[in-house]
Amino acid sequence: MQSEIKNILSLVIPCYNEEQMLPIFYQATKDLSTTLSNTEIEFIFINDGSKDNTLNIIKNLQQKDSRIHYISFSRNFGKESALYAGLVKSIGNYIAVLDADLQDPPTLIPKMLEYLQSGEYDCAATRRKTRKGEPPIRSFFAKCFYKIMGFFSDVEILDGARDFRVMSRQYVDAILKLGEINRFSKGIFPWVGFKVKYFEYENIERVAGQTKWSFGKLFLYSIDGIIAFSTKPLAFASILGFLLSLSAIIMTIFIVIRKLIFGDPVAGWASLMCVILFCSGLLLLSIGIVAQYIAKIYLEIKKRPIYIVKEEK
Ligand code: UDP
Ligand code: MG
Repeated sequence: MQSEIKNILSLVIPCYNEEQMLPIFYQATKDLSTTLSNTEIEFIFINDGSKDNTLNIIKNLQQKDSRIHYISFSRNFGKESALYAGLVKSIGNYIAVLDADLQDPPTLIPKMLEYLQSGEYDCAATRRKTRKGEPPIRSFFAKCFYKIMGFFSDVEILDGARDFRVMSRQYVDAILKLGEINRFSKGIFPWVGFKVKYFEYENIERVAGQTKWSFGKLFLYSIDGIIAFSTKPLAFASILGFLLSLSAIIMTIFIVIRKLIFGDPVAGWASLMCVILFCSGLLLLSIGIVAQYIAKIYLEIKKRPIYIVKEEK
């Protein structure tokens, strides 16, 4: 009897200073294929310029388990670049991306894969139901971010949607066609379309090690996201300018008429100062918005690589 053709599921795992997590992560995922029917797994670890012992740990694991492959960057390029590199290297007909800190429960993968194998869905994605365990201030700003994003962005970005997902090869190939350097996966995933099934789960705290995201980093990341997926802020600047000019014309007409009828001299430089300051503020804000887009164009046009590999296996 001819043996059945096996599926391959690639696990793409971005790692930055994850020396504490990697052995735990490996223990939790090494037997995953036994719970999957007719599917082998390959691991693709991306060492994103870690400063700790992450790379050596990956190399040691790789010597014991031939299913493990890795890419090591020349420096820290960020999770987005690591994800991209992992997707490029993956050979599976199904591809899962998950964090090394077990905040993305690997136990969900068999169920997610089932949905893909049914042929009805191209991607099984995940979403946190709650933000339990997260500092309240961070949750508050995250909520604001999704509200602002929802208003500005042309793609729908779900509150609490995680990068953790299992995808078909066709879906991944579509993602790889988007070769932009400023990568914002939360926008890229919905942008490519296809049929996505969402799984919800309670927030799980990182098992060991520390989050790599400071508040400042998250704030800049959210601005990047808005700029990468919407040109509405530019329209917003134009509309603002138009409304201000209109109100200036109306005010001028009003003052001229009042002067002609009542001979009223215009009083008060304080109010004038307020108007001048307000207008110059808005002017700078608008220039700032335009500048953000120019900066992104500048970075894209240089066509620098998304990542640089130092070693891989
Ligand atoms: N990560 C990365 N490069 C970075 C920052 C993070 O590859 O510059 C990886 C990290 O090792 C982890 C995942 O991205 O596997 C998510 O990072 P983290 O847990 O710090 O983020 P959080 O869950 O707090 O949003
Ligand atoms: Mg995490």
